Amino acid sequence: MTDRAVLDELGMTRRIPRRDFLNGLAVTLTGAVAARNVTAAARSGDAPQSQSGTAAQTPYPPARTGLRGNYDSAVREFDAIQKGTYRQFPAIDNDTREDYDLVIVGGGISGLAAAHFWRRALGPAQKILVLDNHDDFGGHAKRNEFSYGGRSFIGYGGTMGIATPYPYSYTAKRLVEELGIQVERNGEFLNRGAFQKLNLGPGMFFDREHFGEDRVVAGNGRIPWPEFFAKAPLSEAVRKDLIRLHGQNPDYLAEMSADAKMALLAKISWQDFLLKHAKVHPDAILFFRGQGGRNNKRIDTTPALEAALRGSVGFNGLHLPERGETFRESSYTFHFPDGNASLARLLVNRLIPSAFPAANLTMDTIVQAPPDYTKLDAAGSSMRVRLSSPVVRVQHDGDLHHARSVRVAYLRDGKTHAVRAANVILACNNALIPALMPELPDSQKQALAYAVKVPMMYTNVLVRRWTSFARLGVANVNSPCMLHTGTSLDPGSTVGGYQGVTVPEEPIVVHMTSNPNKPGLSRKEQNRLGAQQLLTTTFEQFELEIRRHLGAMLGPGGFDPASDIVGLTVNRWPYGYAYTYDSLADPDVPPEQRPHVIGRQRFGQVTIANADAGAAAFTNQAIDEAHRAVEELLIKNGLT
Ligand SMILES: Cc1cc2nc3c(=O)[nH]c(=O)nc-3n(C[C@H](O)[C@H](O)[C@H](O)COP(=O)(O)OP(=O)(O)OC[C@H]3O[C@@H](n4cnc5c(N)ncnc54)[C@H](O)[C@@H]3O)c2cc1C
Repeated sequence: MTDRAVLDELGMTRRIPRRDFLNGLAVTLTGAVAARNVTAAARSGDAPQSQSGTAAQTPYPPARTGLRGNYDSAVREFDAIQKGTYRQFPAIDNDTREDYDLVIVGGGISGLAAAHFWRRALGPAQKILVLDNHDDFGGHAKRNEFSYGGRSFIGYGGTMGIATPYPYSYTAKRLVEELGIQVERNGEFLNRGAFQKLNLGPGMFFDREHFGEDRVVAGNGRIPWPEFFAKAPLSEAVRKDLIRLHGQNPDYLAEMSADAKMALLAKISWQDFLLKHAKVHPDAILFFRGQGGRNNKRIDTTPALEAALRGSVGFNGLHLPERGETFRESSYTFHFPDGNASLARLLVNRLIPSAFPAANLTMDTIVQAPPDYTKLDAAGSSMRVRLSSPVVRVQHDGDLHHARSVRVAYLRDGKTHAVRAANVILACNNALIPALMPELPDSQKQALAYAVKVPMMYTNVLVRRWTSFARLGVANVNSPCMLHTGTSLDPGSTVGGYQGVTVPEEPIVVHMTSNPNKPGLSRKEQNRLGAQQLLTTTFEQFELEIRRHLGAMLGPGGFDPASDIVGLTVNRWPYGYAYTYDSLADPDVPPEQRPHVIGRQRFGQVTIANADAGAAAFTNQAIDEAHRAVEELLIKNGLT
């Protein structure tokens, strides 16, 4: 088939109103045979346009499609900041002469929560400015919206919801309560009925490049494993080993005491355990590529002990002592159709009620109450949120010990601007802070630079109908080894006038997840390279890979990527989850010597919030760290 024919078949050549990225960088995506074709086409100047690209200029940011998340212009300056371009406080094109009680760098949940806590302590007359580099607030908690056939479809572009792998503190719970979110109503908001009615469940997609043929097998975890693996395109040796692992295993470490087993497992990866101790066929490892441990660790970066304690396969013959690894409060779970974007909206609704159709919106009304973005930064308002404004430098006015204010420089519309603040909270990425404030002590800068955020991608694909999923009997599919390892139907919720999906003939958002990595390297190195891959891959390359993936996977169910895909938003998050420590990759040091604790120390009138400062990638950490940062400044200023 010619390049053009491949692109036609996948729907890449359909016209769209506007297309943002056509630079055809030669990045090879996993399994993207066709991607090489489109790259060549793009280079030759013959790059086609498809129907699902960027509606970038709609005034309502959640409706912007194409490349979102940490999109190009939002993070373009990060590299220059990191390289020391702003070591000297930059010449300012526009000194706004604005003076604030508090400037917050970062408009994610942490920054917004910090504004809330500050006002709760000192009242609404306090002048606060939140600066963020994106065109929407919420940080990772972003909403994606599509419009099709006169109906709107909402998806989550990042933070999926309130979840409790770590229990919520009373500080975080109180905030959730103040926002009127009753987590116990989660069942009403989750719309799983349509899938249950059709008995749709999990499946695995074995792709041609890694498994020799394209095939979806439904029922992993639902039907007996021998039956499941009998349908999968695997060699006899691999099939036998996978059946063994998924059944009752012998004790592969029979000669060791329980303590010795635990000590060994803490220091080897799950993959090494399977290869060296369970002696599985190396090709069996491919099946697990896409699975792993907490914080998106993969089979080769998950400590075997963590995998064992999570109940992963291979360990049930070891007779490890029961260990309640983490205290779980399982009911503390909640999901809005746009994930925690609604939580961010509820926060902003409390901070700037005039930007919303009504004050004090509730969990029932927030989903259908879009903010007026032009009112977030109103002159004269004591509470302002300024978007598309990356901060490049933060410096005390004069000597650290006597300074009464801090200058904050940011970029906006290609110019440098400056504001002054009595206090500053850095609720942004830890790794950038040493360059924003080079005056910090070296030990603190080193500690802030220790962690490497986890790169992630949440892709939302609006499809015309989901009959192909129904025919294949799946609602969510794991695709080991592929760029997107997770694909699931997102049924939405029927809440506050928003309508979730009910039948397969309706359009639906298909949510795909990706954690780009480079198996075999250390975890931090994999994170770095994964982020780099996200930053250098064009939207067209992502789109082509997505079309090819969905076409190969769902084709036997009747899916046609060219006509069935009617909207596409790729939320790339090179600066994704906060880094968490583990026994394989990090030294075992006392909690108070952890880099995030050393890194988050207050420095004069400036302190640090954000989930990185808690070394845990969850909303509750973002809230807790905001609370700590506010309290630190209140104590410093004698305001408690
Ligand atoms: C894809 C994805 C899914 C997730 N799912 C969940 C989930 O389901 N549940 C959960 O609890 N957590 C989830 N998380 C974790 C999430 O990170 C936390 O829940 C929380 O939202 C982090 O908030 P934050 O404010 O600390 O950081 P962020 O959300 O990253 O916000 C920080 C903001 O500061 C901005 N910023 C950085 N540098 C600058 C600068 N120089 N100038 C101006 N602004 C700057 C950033 O761009 C960002 O907008 C998810 C994260 C990702 C990436």
